[in-house]
Amino acid sequence: MELTASELWSRVLASAQADVPEQSYRTWLAPTRAVALSDSELVVETPQQFHAEWIEDKFADLLMAITERVLGRRLRLTFRESGEPAPVLPSVSLSLLDERDDRPDASLALPPRPSLNERYTFDRFVVGNDNQLANAACQAVANKPATLYNPLFLYGGVGLGKTHLMHAIGNQILESMPHTRAVYVSSEQFTNDLITAIQGGTTPAFRRRYREMDLLLVDDVHFLEGKERTQEEFFHTFNALYDAQRQIVLTSDRPPKELPGLEARLISRFEWGLVADVRVPDYETRLAILRKKAHDDGLTLGPEVIDFIAHSCTASVRELEGAVIKLLAYSSLTHQEITMELARRALTVMLGPRSDDPRRRLTPDDIKNAVAKRWGIRPDALTSKRRTKDVTLPRQVAMYLIREILDTSLVRIGEHFGGRDHSTVIHSVRKIEEMLQNDTELRGEVEAVHAELARRGGETL
Ligand code: ADP
Ligand code: MG
Repeated sequence: MELTASELWSRVLASAQADVPEQSYRTWLAPTRAVALSDSELVVETPQQFHAEWIEDKFADLLMAITERVLGRRLRLTFRESGEPAPVLPSVSLSLLDERDDRPDASLALPPRPSLNERYTFDRFVVGNDNQLANAACQAVANKPATLYNPLFLYGGVGLGKTHLMHAIGNQILESMPHTRAVYVSSEQFTNDLITAIQGGTTPAFRRRYREMDLLLVDDVHFLEGKERTQEEFFHTFNALYDAQRQIVLTSDRPPKELPGLEARLISRFEWGLVADVRVPDYETRLAILRKKAHDDGLTLGPEVIDFIAHSCTASVRELEGAVIKLLAYSSLTHQEITMELARRALTVMLGPRSDDPRRRLTPDDIKNAVAKRWGIRPDALTSKRRTKDVTLPRQVAMYLIREILDTSLVRIGEHFGGRDHSTVIHSVRKIEEMLQNDTELRGEVEAVHAELARRGGETL
């Protein structure tokens, strides 16, 4: 049975739908379209670049596995923004459950490419104080593999760029020396492959495959902790490659010494070369990463919004990227421009009111007082029954801000305003939300109250 690109893709999607939460499916997968299929690759278009990255990051493994199941063999999945020029691929149909394709292929002259993310390059890596050493070491290794630092061991917390740097080494080496035999594996995959090999009685082939590599990239070696059989196998692989002067690069969430579940002989080998850490980026680096990302992906994010994200997302680069993606998704789903208001809203949804957010320490009264002061009225006018315009607008703004900043329930907010009904509160909140979209004057006032509250919240720390 023959399948076209879009038939194949719609089967894959139908199956993915069962595994992915509905909201995610609708946001990320539903708007995709398969545009080309070759013997080795399926090209899928997404509405924007950030969709492509998100899918690559979150769903690529799942989609690859489903594709393999549907087709009976592996296929590379490439995601890209629609509107990019079409790839030069013969548009052929594939046979379902086709056995290995053994037609001669010019690309066979080159060793099989490891599955590296092409976007993880040195060009796209922003260097700051916190990853300078790691970056320099990786560049050195990429320029002169197996001469300077072997092995190179990178460690640091989640989402700080270890995998990115590791792929950058691979990408650069393969670009300058395309005949390099390279393999990239997560430690998890190494373990699983080994188990499969043991079960299938193909351990010799497994060994040979790894031991004939010029470049071995093993991600997240902390995963090997406590897995003695895998460590044993890895130890021999390591030695074989090291003795043959092949480059080895490893990553982990901790330095070698802090991996008690690893055998001492592995730990000591991990320290033979260079051990470099990546740390949480400081504010300046976060800003630089966001600017670069906005520039590379052609996003229009105002300097204020970028600054706001850099201030709010402090945990990792992945969190920063997540915030941008969330914001773009939020903006495209609600058909609203990306303003400060929207950024605040989207990120509060994502991060929740953070325990370290000074604004969290505020009370509804602090917010009422700040609003009253800004509008030049007495705070008790906000709770009064008066319905003249000079008090209704600030009253609605105060309700809106209490809801937004403190996430107080509608009923509770009503109680703070002289026992008003929750439907009055929701009406007020919605009204202000709508007005903020077009009314720049009001936006300025609300921003000013926010600024005042941020200052006051900070002082109470
Ligand atoms: P780790 O492997 O340390 O958990 P990753 O390498 O997967 O982290 O990085 C998470 C995301 O952040 C990736 O999309 C990566 O491209 C991006 N990233 C991390 N550090 C940087 C940086 N310094 N400059 C640009 N992007 C970065
Ligand atoms: Mg990683």
